[in-house]
Formats: sequence, C-alpha cells, structure tokens
Amino acid sequence: MSDVQAVDDLMGELDFSPTALKSKYLEERDKRIREEGNDQYTEVTAEFSHYVDDPYAEAVEREPLFDEVEVAIIGGGFGGLLVGARLREAGFEDIRVIEKASDFGGTWYWNRYPGAQCDVEAYCYFPLLEELGYMPKHKYSFAPEIFEHSKRIARHYDLDKNACMQTCVTELKWDDSIDRWIIKTDRGDAMKAKYVAMANGPLNRPKLPGIPGINKFKGFTFHTSRWNYAYTGGDASGNLTGLKDKRVGIIGTGATAIQCIPHLGESAEQLFVFQRTPSSIDVRNNSETDQQWAESLQPGWQKERMENFNALVSGADRDVDMVSDGWTEIIRNLTGIVAKQASKSLGRRLTKAERAHLMELTDYKKMNQIRERAEAIVNDPQTAEALKPWYRQFCKRPCFHDEYLQTYNRDNVTLVDTNGKGVERLTENGVVANGKEYELDCLIFATGFEVATSYTRRAGYDIIGKHGQTLSDHWADGLRTLHGLHSHGFPNCFFIGITQGANTVNLPHALDEQANQLAYILSEARARDASTIEASAEAEQQYLDEIKRLANIGQRFYSECTPGYYNGEGTSGNSGGFFSNMYGGGSIRFFKLLESWRSDGDLKGLELK
Ligand code: NDP
Repeated sequence: MSDVQAVDDLMGELDFSPTALKSKYLEERDKRIREEGNDQYTEVTAEFSHYVDDPYAEAVEREPLFDEVEVAIIGGGFGGLLVGARLREAGFEDIRVIEKASDFGGTWYWNRYPGAQCDVEAYCYFPLLEELGYMPKHKYSFAPEIFEHSKRIARHYDLDKNACMQTCVTELKWDDSIDRWIIKTDRGDAMKAKYVAMANGPLNRPKLPGIPGINKFKGFTFHTSRWNYAYTGGDASGNLTGLKDKRVGIIGTGATAIQCIPHLGESAEQLFVFQRTPSSIDVRNNSETDQQWAESLQPGWQKERMENFNALVSGADRDVDMVSDGWTEIIRNLTGIVAKQASKSLGRRLTKAERAHLMELTDYKKMNQIRERAEAIVNDPQTAEALKPWYRQFCKRPCFHDEYLQTYNRDNVTLVDTNGKGVERLTENGVVANGKEYELDCLIFATGFEVATSYTRRAGYDIIGKHGQTLSDHWADGLRTLHGLHSHGFPNCFFIGITQGANTVNLPHALDEQANQLAYILSEARARDASTIEASAEAEQQYLDEIKRLANIGQRFYSECTPGYYNGEGTSGNSGGFFSNMYGGGSIRFFKLLESWRSDGDLKGLELK
C-alpha cells in the first residue's frame, strides 16, 4: 500500500489522472524554460527609456532644494503614504515625500490602463478607511478610485504640503560628520534628512521582451503602465475611440493584460493577443457596496476584516470567512484548512507526504474547474484549448475576471497562441509569431515588471552608507536586513516593502505593519534622544539565518512550475523568485514577531547612538 493511500481513499474516485496531469504540467513547463531566465528581458534604459516617460503630466519647473527635513520618504505610493500617516499620528511633523510621478498613488498613479482594477477586496485593500471615513464603491475597486484615495490620504495627513513631485532620486549618501543623509535628485537638489524611508514599491520598473527588432516597429507602442490615452482615446473605463480603425496587438496575458483586453476587444478594429502562457481566470463576481452593511460597521472593523482575510489566505482556519471570495476559497482549499478537515476524518494527523499529496490533488481539481470554465465560455474549441492553463494554481498569480474569456468570442479578436515560445521578433510593420507576420498599427507591451534584478537597479540609484559602502555591495550576494527594515552600515535608513518582510496577498496590510513598526522605532529614538539607529551586524546575521532556514518552503513546488516572476523565470526553484526574499514563516508569524519585539521594549538588535 502506498504511503498516501489513506488520502486517496478519502478523496474517493477521481475523474482525472493525477499522473497524466503531472506529466502534462512538467511538459508545459519544459517548453517554456529558457536558459537566459531573467536576462530574456530588456531594461527600459537608453533607447528604451521613453517607455517610462510620464504620459499623464507636463513637467513643472522648480528651484533646487538644499534644506533639511527630519524624515524623507522616497515613494508616494501606499508604502510611503502609510509611513507618512503613521509617523504623523506619532507626532512627526517635518516629513517630505519625494516622488517621481506628479502625484501620489504609486502603482495606481502609473497603471491607468482601461479596466485596471484591484483584485483584492477593497474593504481590506484600501488603507486607512476608518481614519478617513471613506467607503469604496465596489467590493473590487477600479483604479481611478484607488488613485483618488491615495491623494485623499496625502491630503488628510498633510503629506502633500512639503512633497517634491516629479523628482527622481539619483544618489543617497550618508554623511558621517553630521549624521545625515544627503539626497541628490535629477532636479539638482542636495537635501539633508535625518531619516530616510525607502518606499519604492515591489513592481515599479516595467520590462520589455528582449526580442530581435524590439526597436524596429514603426507603429505606435507603449507599456501598459504608461497608457497613452492621447492615442487610444477613451479613459480607464474604456471607450477607446482612437482604436476603431486600428489593428492593435498586445503582448502578454498576465494579470494586467486580462483586465485591459476586454476594452481593447470592444474598441479596436482588430485585436491580436500574443500569448506565451495563459493565466488562470476564475470568477470575479464584483458587486456594489451594500450601504446598509457599511452603516452597520463598528469601530475597528477594518483591522478585524484585514486580519480575518490575512489569516485565511495564510492557511489558518477561522470560524468566519468575512471576505469570502476567490482568494479565500482557493487558499482554504489548497492549504492547511483542507488538511485539517482530512485529518479530522482520518482521526489522526496527516504525514508530510499525505499532506503534500492532498494539496496536489485538490490543486488538480481546482485547476480542472478553471480549465472547464475556459471551455464553457469560449466558443471556438481551439481557442478555448489554448486558453487553458496547465500548471498548479500558485505557479502564477491567480486572476479573476468575468469578461476576459468572453472577449475571444468576438469576431475582431484573435488569440495568437505561441505554444510557450513567445513572440519571435518585431519588424517595421508588426509582430512575428509562429513564423507569421501580423501587421499592426499599435503594439502594447503587457509584459510586466522587473522582479529579480538588483534592488538598486530597480530603485534607479545606489545608497552609499557608512565608510562609503554601497548597498549594491552589501547586498551583492542577496538581501541582508533585520526584519526587512534595517541594514547594517546604513543607519537611519529603513526599507519598506517586500525586502525580507511579510508575504501577504493584501500588500497594504504588510505595509501598514511596517509603518507602525517604524513609527514605534522613531518615537523610541526620539524619547531616547538618539541621533542614529542602526541594525547590529549580529542581529542582521541572525535574521538572515532565520530567513534562510525558512526559505526552503515552496522550493520543490516552484521548481515544478511553469516559468514566471514567481519562480525567477523557472531557473532555480524559488530562488530569485518573488517570494524568495520574503519571510518564509508566513505573514501571521512575521507580524507577531514585530509585535513581540516591540512589546519587549528594548529595541533588540538595534544600536542607538
Ligand atoms: P506579468 O509579469 O504577470 O505578465 C507578463 C506577461 O507577458 C506574461 O503573460 C508573459 O508570459 C508575457 N510575456 C513576456 N515576454 C513575452 C514574450 N517574449 N512573448 C510573449 N509573451 C511574453 O505582468 P503583469 O503586468 O500582467 O502583472 C504583474 C503583477 O502586477 C501581477 O502579477 C500582480 O501582482 C500585479 N497586478 C495586480 C493586479 C491586481 O488586481 N491587484 C492587476 C494587475 C497586475 P509568460 O507567462 O509566459 O511569462
């Protein structure tokens, strides 16, 4: 009898063959593995730098600044906004946000493509709803409302007053003689700051495929994160009238593409979707906010809801599923909760092998459902077949949409499936895929963002710490932090985001925990009259050891996945992947770690001077 027979008995007769599915998944993965891994992409610098120009604002002139602030926050997205908000609440007044865009919002400033929407429930995702007395209009909000909310936070906490917009940092250098950071920018500034919070965002740098002829195409091109409405017409809600006589191509079928493709399909004369790997598209089922429910909420509701959601999407069990959506449904069925139910039925704990087997079987079941959905919605059997994802659910970001698959039933929309190969090259006239040239007027890159490149490359500048040491050197062999926030040799500099911090579906939740942690640390430093705060070398090493100890989680899983940014383009399990630089113990444990560190009250691991 096999060591997983008990699980097989529990699952009963299956209407699929796990062995056949597994070998299909591996075959589809192998088709897509490319030796170049991440190097297959082109950086948006030099002749490609126009892909990151801001199409939404005119440049505004200002005089350079040489003044000093107590706290400089680099980045005006949710990370920067939450740090600003929590510091204001803790009594910090002298704050300056430095931001390359012309306004707050970060990802929601840049990603204005038609149909852009957040797939995490708005009541959990929008920061500071109770503090601002705001209630989102829908369960899943559209980008313009989230962008507006970002600006609302900035105004509410007066973060707009002293901000430097349209300003790119070019260098950050610690001056030992005055214990201050000197921040140089492309505006000729050389400002001083006692503290710097780095809130650059995790997916801030667009990438392009490194295919031959990438700069040859003579038609109109842009990346989805810099949507050109002057060309397409319309706005974030669609109605792209400028495309009515255009042959449009889009490369990519990830979370971004699936949201804008329905609008392109509706407006373009012809739309060609160039697909390398299909996304898994589950039901969205959006709804307007129920006003009666909103009015019935009691103080503290948002934190409670965020924690309930985070627990369920982290594999913990709860009596109630407050959000009750695709995320909680998928994760409940694929993690510890399903194992708990199985072990209840068996009357004993599952072995490691049984647990893994159970997860695999439930994953196959879920993905069969996703594949059946494509088949049920898409009329043309060949197109439906090409839209079926052959990998485990969390190999790629799960997507939720109720109009995407339906778009392929339109006569003007063609799916150009490349059987895992991707597009071959660009010509003056269009795209070559599967050996055929597709002539286009407009080509849109929905090809995502840099993930596995170095932190300083993505930031766009280096950080020069004590004794002239650069962050790129200090992190040459990988990130080194304490709690993801501090790095030895870089006093008074704090990293906000996913640098060895929590892995959560709801990123603003993790950002808020970090913001609270930072507000606590700076308040303590103030109370102790400290001029510098720095992680000790030992504390950094201990945390790194802990990160490494926990990092094996998911290694086998990701090595069997089809390539993507989750697994470092499939080259090495999950190392170099999106989650490899996060705390492997899970977000619940990570938040508890920070909380208990704060309640100890001795700032363990930090050196104050
Ligand atoms: P992704 O990296 O997820 O997708 C890039 C797409 O480009 C993939 O389909 C990829 O194919 C394709 N691609 C790359 N190179 C080629 C090539 N040479 N030929 C053909 N296709 C190619 O980027 P997205 O912008 O879609 O999403 C990035 C992330 O942004 C999401 O994972 C999510 O975290 C976030 N996001 C969140 C949303 C939300 O609702 N909260 C909405 C949108 C985005 P392949 O899969 O084969 O690599």
